[in-house]
Amino acid sequence: MTIFKTTKTLTFVTCLAIITLVSSIYWLYSNAKIKLYHDALSSHQQTLEHEINRLVEDRRESAMAVALALSESQQVRDFLCKTCEVEKPSQLDFKDLLEQLALHTDYNQLWIQVLDTKGVSRYRSWTPKTGDSLIEARRDVRDILHVPRVVQEISVGKFNLTFKSMVPLWDEQQTLLGLVEIVSHFTPLANKLKRIHGVDSVILVEKRYRDQLTKAQTGVFVNDYHVANSGTNPKYVAFLERLGAQGIAGGIPEKVYENHVITRHLIKDDTGLILGYWFTFEPIEKLGFSEIEHLNKQYLYASIVLLVLTLLLIFLYIFKQRSDKGLSYYRHVLNSASEIIFVSDYSRIIEANQQFFEFYSEFSTLKEFLSKYRCVCDTFEVEKGYLQREVDGEFWLDYVVRLPDKHHKAVILKDGKKQFFEVKVAQIDIYDKPLYSVIMHNITSQEVYKQQLELLSETDTLTGISNRLVFNRTLVQEIQRAHRYHSELALLMFDIDHFKNVNDTYGHEVGDQVLVTLCEIISELLRETDVFCRIGGEEFTVVMPETSLEQATQTAERLRKAIETLPSETLPTSLTVSFGVVSMTRWDNDKTILKRVDDALYQAKKNGRNRVEVAEDSVATTNQ
Ligand code: GH3
Ligand code: MG
Ligand code: MG
Repeated sequence: MTIFKTTKTLTFVTCLAIITLVSSIYWLYSNAKIKLYHDALSSHQQTLEHEINRLVEDRRESAMAVALALSESQQVRDFLCKTCEVEKPSQLDFKDLLEQLALHTDYNQLWIQVLDTKGVSRYRSWTPKTGDSLIEARRDVRDILHVPRVVQEISVGKFNLTFKSMVPLWDEQQTLLGLVEIVSHFTPLANKLKRIHGVDSVILVEKRYRDQLTKAQTGVFVNDYHVANSGTNPKYVAFLERLGAQGIAGGIPEKVYENHVITRHLIKDDTGLILGYWFTFEPIEKLGFSEIEHLNKQYLYASIVLLVLTLLLIFLYIFKQRSDKGLSYYRHVLNSASEIIFVSDYSRIIEANQQFFEFYSEFSTLKEFLSKYRCVCDTFEVEKGYLQREVDGEFWLDYVVRLPDKHHKAVILKDGKKQFFEVKVAQIDIYDKPLYSVIMHNITSQEVYKQQLELLSETDTLTGISNRLVFNRTLVQEIQRAHRYHSELALLMFDIDHFKNVNDTYGHEVGDQVLVTLCEIISELLRETDVFCRIGGEEFTVVMPETSLEQATQTAERLRKAIETLPSETLPTSLTVSFGVVSMTRWDNDKTILKRVDDALYQAKKNGRNRVEVAEDSVATTNQ
């Protein structure tokens, strides 16, 4: 349930992180794109501005060049000269010149006008009409005739927004003959821009001149703004109509309008007065913002890299969280165990559970423990049958791993008391060098109980001396040992004489007490190495290692005498005991020796009791 819940939370966090990341990248991308876009547009606008300015400047200069050239024309001078004696041309004709200009230059809409000193139009290239005076209608004509000079301007007349170049004409005596006026239009410039840069233009004349334009050249108006250039794309004229007067004069609010990049340039006269507006139009896809495409790619790659990194980080985080949890989970499990558990390599302990420190309570860290002991095995008591640092020349951990079915035990002294442990070891082979996980289960109570049971099973319950079981085992062991080391071994067997009478006379309980007292007395008289056992109701044996037949016989005799001469207060009645004594021969085993000593005792009984009889040599017996 918890894991399920955690997974859900992690999924949520992951999604949130990815959404945040994607949104952030998108936000950054959008901002960068907008900036790049605007930068690109601004730079594009500047380029166009520069180009248009250049076109206008070129046009002004070349119009002036044509005007100056015409002012030097003898034909024009002769035509205007009143006092000249030369034959005057009846009329001027610049048709060829205009055709040549249209063919070889951008001057396909060039108007030429020649005026005399009265301001009367003597020639117009665009209309056959002549003879009318402009002195009243045109102030610029009045001014130049009053103070003759070269005039060059952009201005709005009754036809259109035009470039005008006016140059006075003089005869050889420096008498003013009149003036030449060159009028050039914006249409060729707009066409040139379209031809060179593929940019459409709509040039508008300020609406202030609406009424003045009585012979508006194109006849097209957008909100009272006259369209100065001809051949405009109606789509762009419609754009401007939608933009309205405010959009035109106040400046378009957006550089991009209906998927077109629109720029606006002001056309001013020499005093800075706005005469018109030059709008350019380009479909946005034509611009091909390479930087933006580059940016798209950059952000795409960056996004992919970031996304992959984020996912990687999240997975690493999840993995770490899981392994941390797993680790603490297993540590918890280890600490909740009642056994001492630790992990060790050959040289040192690496990890230990809580029980470890509860047992080795003088240490609170592994470092402290290791500063005193190299190994847990250094705390083991040296005791036979229990684990030591090395067992049969093998390191204890390897030994336990090699013999997994054996019951391995160790003894450790704690607070002066022996603590017994059952030890299990498993080898961990997941790292470069082997590790051992060791489990030490405290079996002290079982071990003590077992020892008590063992003691009970070997002890005679009435007298407290060893029982028949011990006798049988000891006899076999001692015979083997005596044979192996060629040492002597003697055996006594004795039986209380007429013991039945004691019971009969004093009762069974007194009889029991007599048996206890007798055993205490005899135990006192025996050596440490003698093993004294009760093998029947009132029958006893003494296994006497390293004892000759003579020594054993003497001991039997001593015991017999001691019992016979016991002070009367010791026992309720006087007692005697009959002994059989035997010494082990090289042919004896436990059965033959027992048989011989039993025979000897029988002999003692038979011979009158309260006596010691020595068993015959087994060889002798065999030989008989
Ligand atoms: P003997 O050995 O000299 O031939 O005579 P005995 O009377 O000692 O021999 P018997 O084998 O006839 O009797 C042995 C008696 O020992 C029988 C029994 O009442 C007594 N006895 C055996 N074990 C115990 C015991 O544990 N407690 C008591 N009170 N008496 C026991
Ligand atoms: Mg007896
Ligand atoms: Mg008996």
